[in-house]
Order: sequence, then C-alpha cells, then structure tokens
Amino acid sequence: MKVTDHIKQAEGKSLFSFEIVPPVKGQNIQKLYDNIDPLMEFKPPFIDVTTSREQFVYIEKENGLLERKVTRMRPGTVGICASLKHKYDVDPVPHVLCGGFTREETEYVLVDLHYLGIDNIVALRGDAMKHESQFNPVKGGNNYAIELVQQIADLNTGKFLHETIETPYTPDFCIGVAGYPEKHFESPSLASDLKRLKDKVDAGADYVVTQMFFDNQKYFEFVEAAKAIGINVPIIPGIKPIAVERHLQILPKVFSLDLPLALEKAVLNCKGDKAAIRQVGVEWAIQQSKELIAAGVPTVHYYSMGKSDNVVKIAREVF
Ligand code: FAD
Repeated sequence: MKVTDHIKQAEGKSLFSFEIVPPVKGQNIQKLYDNIDPLMEFKPPFIDVTTSREQFVYIEKENGLLERKVTRMRPGTVGICASLKHKYDVDPVPHVLCGGFTREETEYVLVDLHYLGIDNIVALRGDAMKHESQFNPVKGGNNYAIELVQQIADLNTGKFLHETIETPYTPDFCIGVAGYPEKHFESPSLASDLKRLKDKVDAGADYVVTQMFFDNQKYFEFVEAAKAIGINVPIIPGIKPIAVERHLQILPKVFSLDLPLALEKAVLNCKGDKAAIRQVGVEWAIQQSKELIAAGVPTVHYYSMGKSDNVVKIAREVF
C-alpha cells in the first residue's frame, strides 16, 4: 500500500515510522531483525531502507602499487525490503539514488521493486563520493533527484527508457522526496531550495520526508513556506534522537543544521556519561514528537540508525 494511502487511512492520526540502514557487508540479517522487532509493537505502516553510495577501496598489488576498486559497503537495500515485507507484513520504502547508477541500472532496480510488490520509493540524488568535492553522476546517470522522479513517473505510465510497454501490470509507485527545513547545504537559499522541492512535486513526487531537525519551529515554518508556494503533498518530519556527545559536532557538519543551545547544554551537562546523554536525546525527541503530533503531522519518522532502544523509549511515551 502507498505511504500516502496509509496517511489518508489514518484520518488525521499521526503514524509512527522509521528508517533503517543496511548492515555492512558480511553481517547476518538477524541483527537487523533484532533491532526492528521491538519497534513493531508501535505498528509502523512503513519502514524506510537507505541506500549507501559506492566507495573506493585500495588493493595492494604484488609490485607494491595500489589498485583502486569500487565497492559498496552496505549493499542489500532491495533484498532487505523484500525480507521486511514478507517477515513483518509492512510496506518497505527503498531509497533509490541517482549517484552511482546509470539510468538503465536504475530501471532494472525499479523493475525488481515492481516484481517484489513494493509500492513506495524515496527518490534521492545522493551525496558526493568520499573523495569528491561535489556530486558527479556516473555517465548516463540522473543528475538531480527530479530526473529520477521523472524516470519513476514515466515508468508509472508504462514508459521505459527505450520503449513504451502497454500492459495491465504497469507500476504505480508512490514517490517520496527529501526536503530540508534548514535548506540543503548546496542551495543558495531556502527559497531556492523550496522552489526545487516544488519542481520535484510537480514532476510527480507524492510526499516529502524532511531532513532531521531539532527545533520544531524550523519544520513548522518550512511547511508554511512550502504551502505558500503550492506544495500540497504531505510533509513528513524526520526526527533523530541525539545518542552520543560527538553528535554535537557531527550532525551540524554532515547534515548542515543547527542544534538548539538548550540541547547542547543538556548534553554537555552529562559530562560524558554515555547513558545520560542517550537519555537527553530520548527526552528531547519525546518533546519534539509530542508537539509535532499535537500539530497534526502525518507521521513522525525516526532515524534509528543502528540500535533502536532509544526509539522504543520515545515511541512508548508518544504512541
Ligand atoms: P536534489 O533534490 O537533487 O537536490 C540537491 C541540490 O541540488 C539541492 O541543493 C537543490 O536545491 C539543488 N537542485 C535540485 N535540482 C536542481 C537543478 N535542476 N539545478 C540546480 N540545482 C538543483 N543519501 C544517501 O546516500 N542514501 C540515502 O538513503 C539517503 N536518504 C535520505 C533520506 C532523507 C529523508 C533525506 C532528507 C536525505 C537522504 N539522503 C540519503 C541524503 C541525500 O542524498 C543528500 O542530502 C543529497 O545531497 C541531496 O539529495 P536530494 O534528493 O535532496 O537532491
């Protein structure tokens, strides 16, 4: 079922959903299930599964020189989605990236997702590779998320890249895209970024999921500004509980966002006590979630990233 239909069916009640990251290569899926199992008590209608970009590894050759090879450290998004769908009877939402894929390779992924009965996709550009200073698509790949949205929207009408196929089995993917309450780091302004978001919606995106934020006011203002320029699809807020002290530096740097002073102070007051810091993150996210739900958001979407115990604590208080 489509994410947008889950939202409609909830008739104004805020849903609970979360995102998981595939484990690094060589792991067993059981660890992932062990993290997801306790979250199923809160009946998520859908679970997002991220996709990681490819990266370079350097293999030492016999002559001492290094050979550069491309690898993926966290493959398996499509397989994990299939396993979640059948194990939990939930709607998995794979993240599909422009970066690292030609449009043909993307088409094959979309065909696989369709065969698996997966109804939703979050369409993303992806970031630059680790050694790159800016995002570069592979030759023949999509440059921006909007092009990927267009590719999926085309497929929804039977239009494949090199042929149109008329069949009763045409896909009907529900398409999510990313939105940034504190603007995407490359964008010259929030207004420009919002215009790009509107373009993605006009190209066929059915809903928006936001980057994490720690000050709800930023989300509320973003939603107002989006509505003012005619973005009328659901905008799902993304919430991440702070879990370790170094998040104070990492999150602003990686996600280009501000942390409220009160949150920073609360974390620093823990004086390195790891359990106390995790608890601060939980309490902050509980307050954020309660306020968002009171404002009638469609879903509160948690970035669980690994251990889910903190999201369980939040959900217990909120859902
Ligand atoms: P776009 O919408 O293409 O925008 C990228 C930038 O280009 C923005 O600054 C935008 O304003 C600008 N822009 C857009 N169109 C144009 C145009 N035509 N001309 C000029 N400028 C333009 N990354 C992963 O690697 N894997 C994931 O699974 C993943 N999941 C995510 C989930 C969410 C909810 C969010 C918010 C982000 C996620 N990301 C993920 C990170 C995302 O890939 C990066 O933030 C990336 O830098 C931008 O992706 P986008 O889809 O927003 O790009």
